Amino acid sequence: MLDPGHNGGNASHPAEINKQVPAGRGETKPCNTTGTATNAGYTEHAFNWDVAQRVGAALATHGVQVRYTRDNDTGVGPCVDKRAAIANQSGAAAVVSIHADGSDSSSAHGFHVSYSNPPLNAAQGRPSIGLADDMRDAFRSAGFPTSTYLGSGGIYPRDDLAGLNLATLPAVLVECGNMRNPGEAAAMSSTAGRQRYADAITAGILGYLGL
Ligand SMILES: [Zn+2]
Repeated sequence: MLDPGHNGGNASHPAEINKQVPAGRGETKPCNTTGTATNAGYTEHAFNWDVAQRVGAALATHGVQVRYTRDNDTGVGPCVDKRAAIANQSGAAAVVSIHADGSDSSSAHGFHVSYSNPPLNAAQGRPSIGLADDMRDAFRSAGFPTSTYLGSGGIYPRDDLAGLNLATLPAVLVECGNMRNPGEAAAMSSTAGRQRYADAITAGILGYLGL
């Protein structure tokens, strides 16, 4: 299950995406957010969508059945709890949310991978940590630097992400890099750069699946 973060219609539908929904651990969060963008205006939702399509195409060539939490980049949501439900109901072997960050610091750069911590069920324990480690290893092998500003060694366990808190299957969220960093913004804005991110995510999933 690939979960491209945000959606292209979110920005023009504030009432819908600001509605509070369950986020796990007894908390609520807005249904969804607009995501970030490069300083030149290339949006995170477009990046996430394009990379997810590239990952899905690559996985299909390995015989992996791929599903997505949204069908296009022009809709609204789905809400974060709905995305988790879509993933959980799929019975997928792995759930990967694809994002890019928007740190205020232009020098901040590098990727990080998050999983739910402390775990709320067995799937959020070792299986999700294993998926996170395989994803981190794949990004490193592809030459991507680990985050200079969040987490440690490319891993950032979190207790505040609804999709991870609500997951009943192995699930991680990948922040590919910082869209406000000039170098990473340039890579994310190019098709060749997006293919590199997609190749790393694909390798991480294949590694976890043992394919
Ligand atoms: Zn995001």
